[in-house]
Amino acid sequence: MSIPPSQTPVPHDLLWFPGGDVVLSTDTLLFKVHKDVLSLQSSFFKDTFDFFAVRDAQMANDGSGSAEETYEGIPVMRMVGDEGTDVVHLLRTVYERQYYRRDDPKTPLATMVALFNLNTKYDFKHIRTDVIFQISKEYPTQLDAYDDWCDCGYPIFGEMREYMYAHFTLLKMLFKANVPGLLPVIYYASSCSPYSDIFTMTATLDAECLSTLIKGKEKLILAANSVIGDLPDLVRDVVIKCNEDCQYEVRITKLSYVLDYADLRQMRGDFVMQQCVNGVCGKCSKKIEAEYDKRRADVWEKIPSLFGYESWIKTRQEIAEACT
Ligand SMILES: [Zn+2]
Repeated sequence: MSIPPSQTPVPHDLLWFPGGDVVLSTDTLLFKVHKDVLSLQSSFFKDTFDFFAVRDAQMANDGSGSAEETYEGIPVMRMVGDEGTDVVHLLRTVYERQYYRRDDPKTPLATMVALFNLNTKYDFKHIRTDVIFQISKEYPTQLDAYDDWCDCGYPIFGEMREYMYAHFTLLKMLFKANVPGLLPVIYYASSCSPYSDIFTMTATLDAECLSTLIKGKEKLILAANSVIGDLPDLVRDVVIKCNEDCQYEVRITKLSYVLDYADLRQMRGDFVMQQCVNGVCGKCSKKIEAEYDKRRADVWEKIPSLFGYESWIKTRQEIAEACT
């Protein structure tokens, strides 16, 4: 029988400052850092260190000594439930100016998640603000910007944009922390994946969050299908006013190609014209396309309400407030 590796935590190579006055302890790693530095950025650490200082003073007065755990004479604070590697991301962000920058699109998803989750717990307000800001820049709430975002093809947080793991990871994280300003667009991005992918990717998702995602996706498909269902009427209203032979030549085909998608890229006017409408002149084609794009934009505006939120305007206000 093999012997499991030792679980005794060891000092981290970089985050072990000779002048440090507290040792943070996880199951695998130890960090010798500075109370003042942590207190300056985190209300949790400030309150905790203040509490310890008062307690130690009282114990000294009582002559009862100290029950405090120490490592080489330095007090130890246990970070219960935190992964050592996640704490590395947090502390390097605190100590190294270039370690995490909110405008760096190459920030790995794992770093983002570790920073966000630990900041939710320990209240490093500036880091949390930067993470929310970065996610908001990566997930636009304007339709044109979202289209461009989908088309650009660049990785996001080191993950592929199509059917990507990042949507679901961020959905789980933001639902748990209740960040309403970001949730509608993340719900939407997640809903664009096929049901089979959703159920594979969301095995650990909160039941309420999964229910909102599935119900929202169904409502979105209904809204999109309703617009597609009106396409024959829209086409007729345009071609009947045309001086060419469009009303006699027009053919509407292959509507099944654009039905049952939550992804509104399948509703783009040019795409629908290309797939489904034949036999019309250039002028009619442009008119139908423009009207169809208007209706698509109307569906986009409904997206927050389909997932239980008020509007894009409201979510943008909430992001602005969260980033100040
Ligand atoms: Zn025409």
